[in-house]
Amino acid sequence: MATERTLSIIKPDATRRNLTGKINAKFEEAGLRIIAQKRIQLTKAQAGEFYAVHKERPFYDELCEFMASAPVVVQVLEGEGAIAKNREVMGATNPADAAPGTIRAEFAESVGENSVHGSDAPETAAEEISFYFSGLEIVG
Ligand code: GDP
Repeated sequence: MATERTLSIIKPDATRRNLTGKINAKFEEAGLRIIAQKRIQLTKAQAGEFYAVHKERPFYDELCEFMASAPVVVQVLEGEGAIAKNREVMGATNPADAAPGTIRAEFAESVGENSVHGSDAPETAAEEISFYFSGLEIVG
């Protein structure tokens, strides 16, 4: 399997509860390398731009408010099949459906406040990485 890069976000519910280190340990235990990382505060407009694909969904406004409610940690994860592997480590969107041991099973508070974001395909991973990082910020 090829080495891939994927965009990960540790969401406000998790930064608020001081869970960045515990979540990062889950990535590293799964063989994902955190090759770029920064803690930023999104505006609601920036969150809206990032989640534009969900504009028509009923939870869009709530999602944008939430993502701007506290700092987030944006990251580039690298590894063999990193996109799918990260989705596996994250667990299902709704923590009630997430497999035991996954980040969302252990830490998520609800389907909306679910601790992490991860890209779902190679094209979106490339777009999402460039939304937050310049090439100069990714040193491998
Ligand atoms: P993901 O790829 O597993 O993050 O899930 P989606 O792409 O379907 O949704 C993106 C994000 O929107 C989720 O991670 C949640 O934060 C939020 N979201 C999804 N469904 C709901 C919902 O029913 N209610 C609320 N409030 N937020 C939701």
